[in-house]
Amino acid sequence: MNGKRVAVIGALAIGLAANSSAFSGAEPAMCSAGGAVDFGSVHPQDAALSSALADGLERSATLRGLVRRIQLLNGVVFLAAGPWRNQADRTVFSGGMAHTVAVRGQWRILFGRVEPSRGDATIATIGHELRHAVEILETPGIVDAASIERLYERIGFETHAGAYETENAGRAERAVRSELSRCRRVAVTNR
Ligand SMILES: [Zn+2]
Repeated sequence: MNGKRVAVIGALAIGLAANSSAFSGAEPAMCSAGGAVDFGSVHPQDAALSSALADGLERSATLRGLVRRIQLLNGVVFLAAGPWRNQADRTVFSGGMAHTVAVRGQWRILFGRVEPSRGDATIATIGHELRHAVEILETPGIVDAASIERLYERIGFETHAGAYETENAGRAERAVRSELSRCRRVAVTNR
């Protein structure tokens, strides 16, 4: 078993064009969480990813809900920065979640990657990958790569060798993207 195989992937169709309008800065805030953002148990491993997550948590109720849900499910998610390269066929994705889970007491720890510095597209991809984390955490008995693979063979569809996609992750990504489009202000954060 290759532990680095990708379980789930970011949509290839995410466009780089989404970057520019989000940073125009001219539009007033249309919505806000109205306070400090709480990363819960999601840990971006990069300053740009942290900024994207903070921005997204201000502007997207769906993203806030996913972060809360992960913590309620005793999940921990580490998000590294960078594109995901599918080990089997070298396809490059904007994000992915590893097939690995570490169990420490009551906590299940998951590992993903998201390509940073793509504006709102990065935030939508974070939402997509966190939805996959919820899929895993909501399933009892997932304690290793084999049980993750069994889950995705059941709930997902294989898009590339060893890489699975789900309807729910796509739906979450679209919801985040829609909320971001209605709230274009990008918060400046230094988290
Ligand atoms: Zn996916």
